[in-house]
Amino acid sequence: MAKSVTFYPLGVGDSFTTRHFFVNSVINVDGREFFIDCPGYIAKMLHQNSLHGELPLGIDRYKELFITHLHSDHVGGVEELAYLQMYKTVNPIKLYGPDWLLQDIWSHLRPALEPSPREGSDIANFDWYFDPIAIGETHDFGEFTVSYKYTRHKPRTLAYKFDFGNFKLGYAPDTGFDPELIAWLSDSDLIIHEVWFGPTEVLGGDIRNLHTPIADLLTLPEEFQRKTLLCHYADSAYTDHPENPSENIGSYRLLQQGKLYKLV
Ligand SMILES: [Zn+2]
Repeated sequence: MAKSVTFYPLGVGDSFTTRHFFVNSVINVDGREFFIDCPGYIAKMLHQNSLHGELPLGIDRYKELFITHLHSDHVGGVEELAYLQMYKTVNPIKLYGPDWLLQDIWSHLRPALEPSPREGSDIANFDWYFDPIAIGETHDFGEFTVSYKYTRHKPRTLAYKFDFGNFKLGYAPDTGFDPELIAWLSDSDLIIHEVWFGPTEVLGGDIRNLHTPIADLLTLPEEFQRKTLLCHYADSAYTDHPENPSENIGSYRLLQQGKLYKLV
């Protein structure tokens, strides 16, 4: 059972945001830090975070990283992390996800990272850069367990549930409205769930296949709403402060970038 757990959003915005950073977070469990997703331009994000956020972080803090899926707003920075390992193999960052996802990440990175600049080694391997650790549907980390479920999103995307023994955190940053996923998340004490504001017929199709309109979320019980923080939101979600959303969001609250949430 964990003695101390904090949750810290480094980004909260949707994939078009100019106001925030893309959705990504770090969880601190008894001093051990786990990042979830890694969008591009990490150094700029961390610099802005050091100016405006409650928890300054350096890039050297990335030691363990969960991935939800391969859209660029979630993994664009993984290649940037690999640059730290260009000339060394020791202490690679641990990458967590199902085996197929880890393989997809290397397939994605390989054209950029396989040709090696090292003396005497023309071809680099994935495990020079990262320590890929395949996890099953439930994985025991000692102080806590993590389980995952697929969400309604393309490409294949994971929601994670962290069970710290005395507190559960559900994390679904990219999904269409999915009652089965909602049911799976519902035993969590705190839920991070995405939201879509505005019209649902966009980009030539129905956004519901990718994202969750606020109207659908407002059909859920009050109890679910009260313990859920919304992320992946549009720049228009609020004007001055995320505690004052631009439209009715029921009993939900907007997740705040750069705010440290103490869970345990
Ligand atoms: Zn996505």
